[in-house]
Amino acid sequence: MKDADGAAITSETHVARLNPYRYRGYYYDEETGFYYCGSRYYDPIVCRWLNADGRVCFSLGITGANLFAYCLNNPISKSDYTGYKPGDLFDKEEDAAIDFAKEYNSVSISEDREYAANIYKVKTYEYFWTIRLQSIVFENANGDRRFVIKALPYLDRREVTKYSYGVAIKGKREHVDPSRFLKDDNNVAIAHTHGAYNESTECDILSFADTLFAKGKNKYKREIVIYLATPSGTLYRFNPFIPQSPESTITCDIPFDENDPYAPEH
Ligand SMILES: [Zn+2]
Repeated sequence: MKDADGAAITSETHVARLNPYRYRGYYYDEETGFYYCGSRYYDPIVCRWLNADGRVCFSLGITGANLFAYCLNNPISKSDYTGYKPGDLFDKEEDAAIDFAKEYNSVSISEDREYAANIYKVKTYEYFWTIRLQSIVFENANGDRRFVIKALPYLDRREVTKYSYGVAIKGKREHVDPSRFLKDDNNVAIAHTHGAYNESTECDILSFADTLFAKGKNKYKREIVIYLATPSGTLYRFNPFIPQSPESTITCDIPFDENDPYAPEH
């Protein structure tokens, strides 16, 4: 440690030693030799952060500063109704659909209005710590050489595809038009709800119009996967790219209409 004139500071009671706020105002931990910078430690010897940044998703614009992104490897708890919202990232398309259903089926039922949202894919990076080996050669005055292999922590990354969904548009009772989502190729599916239970309608199943839309009978003549959250609490998928069996149900626990006789026992 040097003072302003470049002279070594040896006194333990010198103010420069007592004041822990040093380089750029970061807190210097005398015992470990690391700088503490908000959420991370910086090691000035190897010039590296000790911890990964909590905010690791850089490609999403304003939603990229997403603290949950760090937890992407954690499975999404099926009983968690509140932890997620549009814009969060999921490993699978259907996980985004499940979260859409958890987020919107209650309001869809209580208002008796259909909601629809785009499910889109996102290319992003996952960061992980690994070890990089470095060989160092020491040579003394006699020309004797010694090789040392040093293991340095290294923050590496890999490209991954994640899925998310947008803020839903609100339709009418028994109708919502998601055509606007077909323009963007990043939108890989459309999720929608059917409002409240109504015994005179086909609210609890994929409608004929839903399946036609999925099969390309739409404004943009584009085939697209459709998800449907019903008032009975079932999440359907209609995948036109598997023509022999396009329809399937996704096992999950989503809000349902108490008045729906096909809703689970409660
Ligand atoms: Zn529908």
